[in-house]
Amino acid sequence: MEQTEPAPTPTDDAPAPVLKGIAAGPGGAVAPVARMAAPPSLPEREPEVVDTPAEQAAARDALESVATDLEGRAADLDGEGAAVLNAQALMARDPELRRQVEEGIRDGRAAAWAVRDACGRYQDLLLAAGGYLAERAADLADIRDRTVAVLLGLPMPGLPDPGHEHVLVADDLAPADTVRLDTTRVRAIVTRLGGPTSHTVILARSLGLPAVVGCTGAEELADGVLVAVNGDTGTVEVDPAPEAAEQLRQRAEHRRAVLSASSGPGRTADGVPVSLLLNAGEGDPDEAAAHDSEGIGLLRTEFLFLDRAEPPTIIEQTEAYTRLFRAFAGRTVTVRTLDAGSDKPLAFAATGPEDNPALGVRGFRTARVHPNLLSDQLTAIAAAADATDHKAKVRVMAPMVSTSAEAEEFAALARTAGLGGSTATEVGVMVEVPAAALLADRLLKYVDFVSIGTNDLAQYTMAADRTLGSLPDLLDPWQPALLSLIDRVGSAGAKSSRSVGVCGEAAADPLLALVLVGLGVNSLSTAPPALPAVRYALARHTKADCRGLAELALAADIPERSREVVRGAAHPEVANL
Ligand code: PEP
Ligand code: MG
Repeated sequence: MEQTEPAPTPTDDAPAPVLKGIAAGPGGAVAPVARMAAPPSLPEREPEVVDTPAEQAAARDALESVATDLEGRAADLDGEGAAVLNAQALMARDPELRRQVEEGIRDGRAAAWAVRDACGRYQDLLLAAGGYLAERAADLADIRDRTVAVLLGLPMPGLPDPGHEHVLVADDLAPADTVRLDTTRVRAIVTRLGGPTSHTVILARSLGLPAVVGCTGAEELADGVLVAVNGDTGTVEVDPAPEAAEQLRQRAEHRRAVLSASSGPGRTADGVPVSLLLNAGEGDPDEAAAHDSEGIGLLRTEFLFLDRAEPPTIIEQTEAYTRLFRAFAGRTVTVRTLDAGSDKPLAFAATGPEDNPALGVRGFRTARVHPNLLSDQLTAIAAAADATDHKAKVRVMAPMVSTSAEAEEFAALARTAGLGGSTATEVGVMVEVPAAALLADRLLKYVDFVSIGTNDLAQYTMAADRTLGSLPDLLDPWQPALLSLIDRVGSAGAKSSRSVGVCGEAAADPLLALVLVGLGVNSLSTAPPALPAVRYALARHTKADCRGLAELALAADIPERSREVVRGAAHPEVANL
């Protein structure tokens, strides 16, 4: 953990207040707060519009300049950051948004007011749609604020620059803010809003920054107040005692030193291999390949399909997979077929109105309605594997499989496309639904491997919407019910000598990774910054140690207790990392 300013001395012996949120990016930091600048507010008096066409032109120009600015910043970035900003620029250029703004001006509103109204209407629609779309509402609010600032000649809302290292505190972060962060100055992120799948979480993880989101009380944190942020436990300690701050700082230094020395394939202390893989999506394949990993454990192929009116062609998809397989020659690439629906809706994969889209036609079920989307994708994956002479080990898996009949059906479709049935390519399914976990032994009769998606498995096991920030305790991957389902899948894998992976966020927690290995998991897939700590933890425990930790975790009644007993029994160098 880092500290740049002298810690203030507490005025009395009362314990420092500790705010609680969702642990969203591992590690920790101690630094003073710098709050995000407030968005521009409209003056009380709205000016009268005297020249409607000129006012409409001003609004158009402002939206265009915001889009151009976003694209300009995207050009300086790669990967996920660039994709997020480009998608936001597309929103600013949305013809329907522009039409509504112009209509508002025709009805007598000044440009800035018309922008506010039109964006507000869109935001309401996104929020009402829920899930992934609701989380895009923050992107639109950012476009509104930037456009209003341009129109009123106000400074662009955005990130603070206090001139020293700081903990960035905000209500919520728009993607434009998160990807513009100066990682040499920002030591951690704390937001009042935001759920476990918000952009802040995804991007903070890809930047390797500690983060706490959905943090109650963050609005009270004033500029300059010293805070200790713990991204592993989701806590923010206000005015930590100097000794505690110093301890945290030393721990962070130690952590950095040992983790930078951790490299190579995953192994337990007694040499049992545990593949360490990456979760990947949009981005430069060569950049992804540069990380010290044994391959990709989850390629979220949605990036090829999102923000499009039509699905990508087989040729387009083949090219994208070919680039990736080439970059990962000699390693594994696990391609997940399109996971459309629910929190990832796609216009061309619509499945009709549903009251509960998370329980509806999503993931593999989409193939019931749009079989060609899946068969075309499998054809493209097989063609790319052929085009690269099978130099990467290509594995293909379907999301949201619930029954052994579905596993059998997916395996047959993959084989028809030329995948599976050999050691060169493998076919698997994700275990994200309790039904699939309970009968994993039956699923494994039809597929070569399973990969557990703990994000969805937690949501369906605990009946708690994963996109809500308000139920983090139920979505905690240390919940014993979730662990017992994983135990069941691990045993099924061991009995059938099939591989069992975890590619949900649970794999990124080093202590939980040990528990997962003890439950029979033999590959772990996470965002790149989390891999070194997981590798380090594995190397200090034998497989039998991991089983012992798993038994302790299974026996605990609540996640907090589970974490505590496992930490207490783990190797001290890992427990205190
Ligand atoms: C999961 O559900 O854990 C998973 C890895 O898939 P996604 O987060 O993309 O739904
Ligand atoms: Mg999932």
